[in-house]
Amino acid sequence: MPELSKRTETFTDSVIRRMTRISNQYGAVNLSQGFPDFEPPRELLDRLAEVSNEDFHQYSITWGAQNFREALAEKQSRLMGRRIDPNAEIVVTCGSTEAMMAAMLTVANPGDKVIVFSPFYENYGADTILSGAEPIYVPLYPPEFNFDPNELEAAFRQKPKALILCNPSNPCGKVFNYDELKIIADLAEKYDAFVITDEVYEHIVYAPHKHTYFASLPNMWERTISCSSLSKTYSITGWRLGYIIAPPHIIDAAKKVHDFLTVGAAAPLQEAAVTGLRFGDHYYRQLAEKYTEKRDLFLKGLDDIGIAHTNPQGAYYVLLDISEFGYECDLDFCEKLAEKVGVGAVPGSSFFRENVNHLIRLHFAKRNDTLNEALNRLSDIYKLRK
Ligand code: GLN
Repeated sequence: MPELSKRTETFTDSVIRRMTRISNQYGAVNLSQGFPDFEPPRELLDRLAEVSNEDFHQYSITWGAQNFREALAEKQSRLMGRRIDPNAEIVVTCGSTEAMMAAMLTVANPGDKVIVFSPFYENYGADTILSGAEPIYVPLYPPEFNFDPNELEAAFRQKPKALILCNPSNPCGKVFNYDELKIIADLAEKYDAFVITDEVYEHIVYAPHKHTYFASLPNMWERTISCSSLSKTYSITGWRLGYIIAPPHIIDAAKKVHDFLTVGAAAPLQEAAVTGLRFGDHYYRQLAEKYTEKRDLFLKGLDDIGIAHTNPQGAYYVLLDISEFGYECDLDFCEKLAEKVGVGAVPGSSFFRENVNHLIRLHFAKRNDTLNEALNRLSDIYKLRK
C-alpha cells in the first residue's frame, strides 16, 4: 500500500478532544474540552425551531448568508469601533477552528515563520503544520503570563509572516492589556508582519480586565486578521459558526480558501443565530456576570480543597499545579483523575512548547450543580498522590 502523507505523521489527534472520550468512558464530570452544559439563550432555540420550516435548507452564499453578515457587521462595528463592511470584510466559517486554519492558509507560504505564544491552544500547532509554516514559540511567564518584549523582538527579527494572538487566552486565562498589545503592534509594524487573532472569549472577561480588539489599535486594521466565533458567546459550540474579519484584499483571498475548504457554514444555523447577534449589550454584560460567578465558585472550591491554581483574567479555564502528586507524566495523571476521581481534565503539556508536566487544565463553563459535583469529587484528589 502507498504511504499516507508525511504531514499527518507530525501531529497527533487533539488531546483536548481525546480527553472528552476518556471522560465519557469513565463517566467522569468532563471539565476537559471547553463547552457548556447549560442551554443556549431560549430566543435562539425558538428561532431554530421556526427556521426548520422556512427556506434555509440549501447553501447560503459561500462567504456567509447576507442576513448573518449584516447582523455580525453591526455588532462588531459597535464593539471594534470602526464600520465593518458586511460584504467586503467578513467571511463566515465553520467555527473559529476553520477561521484560524483559513487565515493561516491565506497568509503563510510553506516555510514561512509564525510566532506563537506558549502556552497556546493546541490547534495552532496543527494549523502551522497543515499550512507548512514553522512556529517560533515565545514564552508567557506565570503567574501573570507576561511576555518579555526582548524575546518577542528576537522572534520578530527572524522575519515571521504572522503572529498568532489568542486573547483572552486559552489555556492561561491572560487578558492582554493595552500596553502589551501596543508592544506587539509596534513590532508587527516594524517587522511588517500580520497578526492573526483568536478572540473567541472576547465576552468572557473578568473585571477589572477589559478586552481590547487588536484590530482597533492604531494602524493595526490593515495587518490584522480577526478570527472569532459564536460558540462561547451564545453557548452553541456544536453549531460551528465562526468568522474572519479583515480588510477587503485579505478577505478576497480568505473567501477562496474557505470556499474550497468547506463551501460554507450551515445555512439554517446562520439564520437562527442572527437572533443572538442582534442582542443588545445587556446580554454580554449578563454573560460576563454569569461566568464571573462560575469562576468565583470554582476557584473558591479549589482553594478549599487546597490545590494551587492560576487566576484567570478571562476565558473559562484554570491551570492546576499537580507538582506535589509525584507524577512524571501529566497525561497519566489525567487518566487516573478521570478513572479514580471522576473528573476529566486536559494535561498541560499539550499547550506548552516547553517541557511542562506539572499542570492540568480544567474549565468551568458548566452549570453550578455540575461544578459543585466536580468539586465534591475533586475533594478526593489527594488519593492520587504517589
Ligand atoms: N476551545 C475548547 C477547548 O480548548 C474546545 C475546542 C474544540 O474542541 N474545538 O477546550
